Amino acid sequence: TAFNARVAGAKTLNAFLVETPEHALAAADEADRARAAGEAPKPLAGVPIGMKDLFCTNGVATTAASEILAGFVPPYESTVSQNLWDAGAGMLGKLNMDQFAMGSSNETSAFGNVISPWRRKDGGNAPLAPGGSSGGSSAAVAARLCPGATGTDTGGSIRQPAAFTGISGIKPTYGRCSRWGTIAFASSLDQAGPMARDVRDCAIMLEAMAGFDAKDATSLQLDVPRWEARLSSDLKGKRVGIPKEYRVDGMPAEIETLWQQGVDWLRDAGAEIVEVSLPHTRYALPAYYIIAPAEASSNLARYDGVRYGLRDLPEGAGLQDMYAATRADGFGAEVKRRIMIGTYVLSAGFYDAYYTQAQKVRTLIARDFEQAWERCDVLLTPTAPSAAFALGEKSADPIAMYLNDVFTVPSSLAGLPAMSVPGGLDGAGLPLGLQIIGKPLDEQGVLNAGLAIE
Ligand code: GLN
Repeated sequence: TAFNARVAGAKTLNAFLVETPEHALAAADEADRARAAGEAPKPLAGVPIGMKDLFCTNGVATTAASEILAGFVPPYESTVSQNLWDAGAGMLGKLNMDQFAMGSSNETSAFGNVISPWRRKDGGNAPLAPGGSSGGSSAAVAARLCPGATGTDTGGSIRQPAAFTGISGIKPTYGRCSRWGTIAFASSLDQAGPMARDVRDCAIMLEAMAGFDAKDATSLQLDVPRWEARLSSDLKGKRVGIPKEYRVDGMPAEIETLWQQGVDWLRDAGAEIVEVSLPHTRYALPAYYIIAPAEASSNLARYDGVRYGLRDLPEGAGLQDMYAATRADGFGAEVKRRIMIGTYVLSAGFYDAYYTQAQKVRTLIARDFEQAWERCDVLLTPTAPSAAFALGEKSADPIAMYLNDVFTVPSSLAGLPAMSVPGGLDGAGLPLGLQIIGKPLDEQGVLNAGLAIE
């Protein structure tokens, strides 16, 4: 049947690691029951959501797309997923991703890459990267397998895959969404957020996901604003900053054009456009690729073959051998690279030269943004310096892969809310995203500017 063909087509994307239709159906049944009983509908009543496999889900296998968590079934639910179920949503399944959320193309998954539902229209039929690390989420939403999915963003993992697949995604201010029960990558940067077809759906989902949680020491003790009710694309009185340092060498002309188009749209919506300077922008990427691996090397020390998932215990082996064998087999190449970089930059003798220095740079970057806020309310930039690239195109060159994060990491280092919205298509018919960065806690300003572009 047509339905079966669609399901088979959907499976070729490799977006889902685990399917949980019974969970989604239970939510739909509950929504039906509540409606029949005349109860007020919950905000996400019966909505089937895809969950990035970084979120621990009670009784449902959770691996962060790594062999080292093979067989791990959490006995608890992450706060973000529980918040979604409390709002009436159901889980369609667990979504593929870059292993431990390390990557920009979804190719570091231990369970095969995700394939973007998009193809270039200019003949090249090579399968494209859905972006990463939330590539299962972006592909599933773009292919209309679910109306919304969760993502996590440490240095761009919500925004860049959203841009590559023509959907919207927002990373809220650091601390808005609880990190409890979300597998840690770099704890001072990790934030959950929604990925959906449009800005309004993102606002609705984020309202459900966010909120104070005593179980996360960095959770912000603030009420969740009514973002959806206050959505407005009228930007009269707002100033939009264009950071001149984001005009990087080698950026495709089509992205420059799109950026200018975005400026025009925001001006048409009533905003005043100002040029601003973020002088330390070019140090953000190197600082990020020191700080994120440093924190990762510490967070990933817990995978020792004793407590979770995989255990390699060779004949006659001792404890050290078991650690070594488990970690050698369980972690993928990119994860090992990060652990080695992180261990190196934190080691005695190198700590001050790398880690302390990167932390100082992080402060300077945050200060750049603070100064910009004296002149504008939000910033507009491209989300990524390219459209979706072909699978395999960058996977042998880590630096080329890291460079794709150049526009997303500065706001991550500063903990600011930032969103990607679809801006249009390039000459090959592929989507390009525009990024809006906001002041701390001003998700509303970000969403409203996003709405004006959409
Ligand atoms: N691509 C970046 C990295 O590999 C960001 C990943 C993320 O935000 N989780 O670290």
